[in-house]
Amino acid sequence: MTTATLALPDMNNLSESGVDFVDEPYFESLLKHNAVPDPGRIREIIAKSKNKEALAVEETAALLNADEPELVEQIFDTARQLKKDVYGNRIVLFAPIYVGNYCVNDCAYCGFRRSNPESIRRTLTTNELHEQIRIMLAMGHKRTIAVFGEHMKYGPEVIANCVNEIYSVRYKNNSIRRININAAPLSHEGYRIVKEAGIGTYQVFQETYHHSTYARMHPKGTRKSNFMWRLDSPARAIESGCDDVGLGALIGLADWKFEVLSLVAHAAHLMKHYRVGPHTISFPRIRPASGVTIKEVAEHDVKDDDFLRLIAILRLSVPYTGMIVTAREPAALRKIALGFGISQIDAGGRIEIGGYVEAGDAQTQALEREQFELGDVRPLDEVVCQLLKDGYIPSFCTACYRLGRTGEVFMEHAIPGFIQNMCTPNALTTLQEYLTDFASPETKNAGEEMLKQEFDKIPDGHQKFEILDRIERIRNTDERDLYF
Ligand code: SAM
Ligand code: SF4
Repeated sequence: MTTATLALPDMNNLSESGVDFVDEPYFESLLKHNAVPDPGRIREIIAKSKNKEALAVEETAALLNADEPELVEQIFDTARQLKKDVYGNRIVLFAPIYVGNYCVNDCAYCGFRRSNPESIRRTLTTNELHEQIRIMLAMGHKRTIAVFGEHMKYGPEVIANCVNEIYSVRYKNNSIRRININAAPLSHEGYRIVKEAGIGTYQVFQETYHHSTYARMHPKGTRKSNFMWRLDSPARAIESGCDDVGLGALIGLADWKFEVLSLVAHAAHLMKHYRVGPHTISFPRIRPASGVTIKEVAEHDVKDDDFLRLIAILRLSVPYTGMIVTAREPAALRKIALGFGISQIDAGGRIEIGGYVEAGDAQTQALEREQFELGDVRPLDEVVCQLLKDGYIPSFCTACYRLGRTGEVFMEHAIPGFIQNMCTPNALTTLQEYLTDFASPETKNAGEEMLKQEFDKIPDGHQKFEILDRIERIRNTDERDLYF
C-alpha cells in the first residue's frame, strides 16, 4: 500500500477531550456492595430485559453478582430468549484481512508490539492485497474486517485506499460488500476520510477500562498509553459520521465483571450523547502470542463458565447491540456461546499477514507472523455446515449500511423488530448465494433443508412471494446481491 500523506496525529498536540465515564470507585463499590443481590431484584431486572430495555450499570452489577445456580440459569434462559427475539436464528459470517503489522506501540499482550524481535513485519502490497481478497471471495466471503497495527504507514488515507482496493476485487460473481476496520483511533478528520471510502463499522477496543491496568499494559510514552484518546474515539467516530462503532475489552487483563460494567457504561454514554449505541461489542479473551508470557499479562484469566456468563449478561444489558465471538475461541465454546446472544462470528480466517495465499488451508499457525494464536481454524464451509446442522441460518448479509440503515436509523429499525423482517430474508438470499456458488455437497443439502424450514415459517403473502422470487433468480441466473 502507498504511504499516507495524512499521518497519525501528533500525540503531544492532542487535547484530552471527552468525558471519562469510567467511574472506577463507583463501579467497584457496586460490585462489592451488591455482592449477594436479592433474588427478587434479580427477577425484576430479568423482567426488564425481557422487555428489551437496556440495563443500567447498577442493574448489570446485580446480574454480575447473581451467583446462585438457579439465578444464573434464569439469566442464560433470558439471553437465549432475547437472542431469538431480536436476532432470530441468524449468524452473520465474516473473515479478517490483516493488512500490516508494523506497530509503534508496545502492548504487553500483543505479538505485534514493537519490542517483539520475533515478529515478522510486513505490509501487503496492493497486488498481494488483491490476491488475499480473491482467495477470501473464492471461499464465499462477502464481509471482511481489515486489521492494522498502529503506524504512520497506516494513516486514514492509506486505510481508505485499502478499502477502495478491497471493494474493487472480483472473483467470478463475488465481491466484498462490507469492510469493517480494526485499527488505531483516528482524529475527526481521519474518521471522515475512512467514512468517505465506505467503511462499515470502525472498531476500537479499549482493551481494559481499568486505569492502572491500562497504564501497565501500554507503556508510558507510547501512543496507546493515552487512555482518553482511545476512550473517546468511538464518540469522535460518531461525530465524524462513522455511526457504526464497535467497542471491546480484551478479557483477562482486569476483573471481567469490571470490564462488563464499563462496556455497558460506554454504550450508555454513546446513547445519551449521540442517541446511538455501539453497533457491536467484542470481548476477545487473551490468547497465546509470539513473545508474550501469558501468565504475566492475563492475571485475570477467565474460565469458560464465567466467559459464557459474561456473554449472557451483556445480552441482557444491551439487547440491541450485535455481539461478536471470534475464532480466538475454540469451536466447542463458540457453539455454546452462539445460543446466548452472539450475532456474528468469523470463519475460515487467516491472521498471518499474507496467510490466505501462503498458509492456505493448512491448519498449522505461524505465531511469529500473527498477532495471537487462533482457537478455531475450521474452513468456512465446515463452519457453515455446522451452523446449519445446529439450526442457525449462516448469513452473509450486508444490506443495512448500504441502504443507510446505520447508527440512529439502525436503532429505529431495530427497536420495532424491523430487523427480523429484513434480516431474515437477506440471510436466506445470501445463504442461497453461498449454496449455489461455493458450498460442498454436504453443506448444500443441509442448506436446502434449512431454506425449506424457513420458507414454511413465513406467512403467505407479498413478502414470501418476493423472497421466493429472489431465491429462484439466484438459483437459476447470474443475478446476485438481491437485498431487502
Ligand atoms: N492496532 C490496533 C489497535 O490496537 O487498536 C488494531 C487492533 S489489534 C490488531 C486487534 C485487537 O486484538 C486488539 O485491540 C486486542 O484487543 C486484540 N489482541 C491483541 N493481542 C491479543 C492476544 N494476545 N490475544 C487476543 N487478542 C489480542
Ligand atoms: Fe500494536 Fe494494536 Fe498490537 Fe497494540 S494491540 S501492539 S497497538 S497491533
